[in-house]
Amino acid sequence: AKAEGRSGFVTFSPSILSQIDMQLGEEAAIKRALNCDEFFLVWQPQFELATGRMTGAEALVRWRDAVSGAVRPPASFIPIAERSDLILELDKVVLGKACMQAAKWMPISAEEFICSVNVSGKSLQAYAYLTHLTEMLQQTGLPPSRLQLEITEGIFIQDSRNALESIRKIREIGVSLALDDFGSGYASFGYLADFNLNQLKIDRSFLGDLASSTRKQNVVRGIIALANSLGLTVVAEGVENEAQLDFLIHEHCHGAQGFFMSEPVEERLMTNYLIARQGR
Ligand code: C2E
Ligand code: CA
Ligand code: CA
Ligand code: CA
Repeated sequence: AKAEGRSGFVTFSPSILSQIDMQLGEEAAIKRALNCDEFFLVWQPQFELATGRMTGAEALVRWRDAVSGAVRPPASFIPIAERSDLILELDKVVLGKACMQAAKWMPISAEEFICSVNVSGKSLQAYAYLTHLTEMLQQTGLPPSRLQLEITEGIFIQDSRNALESIRKIREIGVSLALDDFGSGYASFGYLADFNLNQLKIDRSFLGDLASSTRKQNVVRGIIALANSLGLTVVAEGVENEAQLDFLIHEHCHGAQGFFMSEPVEERLMTNYLIARQGR
């Protein structure tokens, strides 16, 4: 915001300038981190509620800052990357790492074990991302049926025709698609009719005070019914306690993930989970 200076001229406040500085600095830092390969993935297991089987895992990106040694969460850099074109590079790097890891897990995981990767709207609609997707599947030998991309509702607002075309191509390749954070903002039932998706992920915000809110319970029931009627699987995220899990099981929600079952874990621990649960 601009402010009237003492002299009557309109001046930019120092805080705005430092925000711009910080933005430029952060973009440069992300670029450097991409070059230095400082991004890595952690994985959060997903469980099928009817059987208790671990049926997949979601890849979540982390940044190990080489200078400070600190691990930074995506909320501290994804929005910055999304405001520039850096997200295109970052999403490609993440996809490559995820495909490589998923391929390595093939011999120790059941055939239905699916790895999910988040993709921002910008990347989804970029030709280069789809090309990279095909190349990565080829290079790693990962069957497309073992990969799912998670997209958020926001992309449909930006350019729904372009999004529709990307989604069609991804499904043609044989990769699954989940609609992430469902119900968190832009939901329009029209999109659900138009887009050929596989899964709805119920936003964490509906799980929060589920036990004490009959309204939230009804909304979650409604989302599950909606998913069922559209032939989509439905996964709840952010399950933090047994009461939430029991409710979801009772309502025949297909799958769930959350701190109650497991936090996102590093690759090696995920490998141990898979070995321990082999065939289950
Ligand atoms: P998301 O896709 O909705 O991912 C779920 C987030 O919820 C993760 O945060 C996860 O650690 C957290 N979470 C999981 N279980 C629980 C729980 O029981 N309680 C609570 N309070 N939180 C839980 P994270 O890893 O910090 O990721 C935040 C967001 O950053 C993601 O939200 C996603 O939108 C974005 N993101 C993460 N990795 C990538 C990526 O590789 N590419 C892109 N484009 N976005 C990513
Ligand atoms: Ca996600
Ligand atoms: Ca989500
Ligand atoms: Ca989210």
